Amino acid sequence: MNTVPSLRLAPMDNERSAGRRVAVIGAGFSGTMVAIHLHALLPPACQVLLCERDRFACGTAYATPFAHHMLNVRATGMSAFPADSSHFVNWLAARATDRAGEVMTTEAGAFASRRVFGDYLSELLETARATAGKRRIALRPGEVVDIERAGVGFRLHFADGGVERVGAVVLAMGNLPPPPSGMPGRLADAWSAGATTGLRPDLPVLIVGTGLTMIDLALQMRDAGFAAPIIALSRRGLLPRRHRPTTPWPTPVFTDRERRSLLALLDCVRREVRAAAARGVDWRCVIDSLRPMTADLWCGLPPRERARFLRHLRPFWDVHRHRLPGPIADRIDGMRAQGQLDIRRGRLLDMRAGESGVEVTARLHGASEPTRFVVQRVIDAMGLTGLHGSVDPLAVALMRRGLARADGLGLGLDVTSTLAVIDASGHAATQMWALGPVVRGALWECTAVPEIRVHAVRVAHAVAEAFAERRAPPVGRPRPQPRSAAPCAAWRARTI
Ligand SMILES: Cc1cc2nc3c(=O)[nH]c(=O)nc-3n(C[C@H](O)[C@H](O)[C@H](O)COP(=O)(O)OP(=O)(O)OC[C@H]3O[C@@H](n4cnc5c(N)ncnc54)[C@H](O)[C@@H]3O)c2cc1C
Repeated sequence: MNTVPSLRLAPMDNERSAGRRVAVIGAGFSGTMVAIHLHALLPPACQVLLCERDRFACGTAYATPFAHHMLNVRATGMSAFPADSSHFVNWLAARATDRAGEVMTTEAGAFASRRVFGDYLSELLETARATAGKRRIALRPGEVVDIERAGVGFRLHFADGGVERVGAVVLAMGNLPPPPSGMPGRLADAWSAGATTGLRPDLPVLIVGTGLTMIDLALQMRDAGFAAPIIALSRRGLLPRRHRPTTPWPTPVFTDRERRSLLALLDCVRREVRAAAARGVDWRCVIDSLRPMTADLWCGLPPRERARFLRHLRPFWDVHRHRLPGPIADRIDGMRAQGQLDIRRGRLLDMRAGESGVEVTARLHGASEPTRFVVQRVIDAMGLTGLHGSVDPLAVALMRRGLARADGLGLGLDVTSTLAVIDASGHAATQMWALGPVVRGALWECTAVPEIRVHAVRVAHAVAEAFAERRAPPVGRPRPQPRSAAPCAAWRARTI
């Protein structure tokens, strides 16, 4: 279980020490790893202020209490340290006896539970704090709701009324919470504690979305004894594919023309899959071979092509790229075969609170007329939420103050190749960086551990360099950045 205690900071000489403090906002995998690396890189007098509104060293993914919530990346891919790829596997092996029940060995490799990964992350933070001293990495519980510039640094405002002065900020806020839907009966957040509790045994539930979040929710309900039908609806009705054993496939080489056209890229990938199949190699090997260059390909695509990807290709990409461990896929197949889980392709048109539940109207694929049905609850498991329309107080404040701007698609914050936040004037903000799912629109392939662990090192180095250079005055003002087009070459083949 997660054991990192949430210590309230002792009041300290805020103003005087501000220039020697870095605030890391969000203590999921991204923020925790940046804090751990900063401890090793910052000069001795500096302090890391790790701010978290919920549980430290977990984040949405690894805070789950459910043992069946498995990692969708093999244990061999989940080391927290890019320079020590066996770190997590060795950690698991050392705890083999008490964690055996939470590791599944499959033909495609071993998969640990997400809860175990949360324990791993908590232990890493505890160990770093034990080595560094509690003041070196100070835990600040509470939600940061606003940031304003103050001299060369920032003033952080917390929901509890607290204020902290810092010299630099790292934003590791994860996925932005979905805005409230305003529709009656709709549960906006699939990850809230009450998402699947308090259900009546007799009425169906509708999950909007058929990806990994839906899989989690369906198994969660099943394990809690829920036996009524679960309808899962999405525009394409696609389910994540299962992991199979893979072998390395050479990363394809794309021409400049191919790199600028989604259709041309798709053609190349299809050609590559056919070539692999002709040699008896599974398509998964080709998809995996693209991973080190996905961020680079994303950055090279014109904005129009990226928008096209989101509209048309993303559901197909997601189900091939983010796969399920075999035993989880078997359970989902079992629920479908028994008729409990009904995957539907279609569009939700309307919902309203009725006498016996939520009256839903959907246009199902192939049906000439809209279909109406009654469910007791509708759960939003669509996943991707954007910055525009976000009600996240910190995101709203960053935009209002012009400290950050949205990436070209409005999915999250815009950043440079060194993960520096780009402000409203198009300049790389001094002393502010961001990483993890919150920069997905700028980099795309930056939401999972194999990429984040590399980015955490990169951000920690950038912060440490900025602190080292602080004594020297900045020379001139940097040129404005084109919207989320900056990184490209800098990312090539460097993300794993
Ligand atoms: C259900 C699920 C399963 C996943 N499974 C895998 C997997 O198997 N393998 C893999 O590699 N990746 C997986 N991922 C991807 C996952 O997003 C990343 O691995 C990683 O955990 C992201 O970490 P993060 O710290 O950037 O974001 P998060 O984990 O979302 O953490 C952000 C943290 O910031 C805090 N926060 C946000 N705003 C504020 C604020 N204003 N003030 C204070 N605190 C704030 C939040 O409370 C949260 O704890 C999964 C994701 C999800 C959602």
